[in-house]
Amino acid sequence: MTGKGHRLSTTAFVLGATSSPLAALFSFMGSTFPDSSEYMFFGKKRNRYHRRYTHWFVIWLSLACVCFSRSGWIVPRLSSLIDGHNAHYDVWSCAGFWFMGCVLHILEDAFCGTVPFLRPWKRDVGMHVFHMSKKIGEMSRGEINFVMCCVGISFIAYIIRSFTFGSFYAFIVSIWNSI
Ligand SMILES: [Zn+2]
Repeated sequence: MTGKGHRLSTTAFVLGATSSPLAALFSFMGSTFPDSSEYMFFGKKRNRYHRRYTHWFVIWLSLACVCFSRSGWIVPRLSSLIDGHNAHYDVWSCAGFWFMGCVLHILEDAFCGTVPFLRPWKRDVGMHVFHMSKKIGEMSRGEINFVMCCVGISFIAYIIRSFTFGSFYAFIVSIWNSI
């Protein structure tokens, strides 16, 4: 997936799931790191290691969990960060969402190719929901459709959460109670 596709779908998804602009901002910043870190670690040899160690979800997910557990599993809120009272929980949560951006990056890559599952040197899981454009950096029609779906679903989730229920949890509970 292109950098643009990663940024758009990750930010939209996190905003839809948390309705926290702060969480969305930090996941936006993390959303292209698995790719850009390859330049940092491997330089010119990057192609040989593309989508291997840097795209192993175990690393990013454990780092995210460490940060989230430090934050007390809260969603960061700008108001409480500015308030300063217990702001360190929000800072940990922001860091957690940065790493979640990396986790989502790998998930998105798995929709248009393969990524490692249990062995970081082997790309063995993934599917081709859409194909990428041959031109580097250009979004293919399939990728645009995929990103639009992510953005659309997240937007609907955001609207439902914001106007109907106090929290995503209350939303789930109400669905559960209705079936
Ligand atoms: Zn990637």
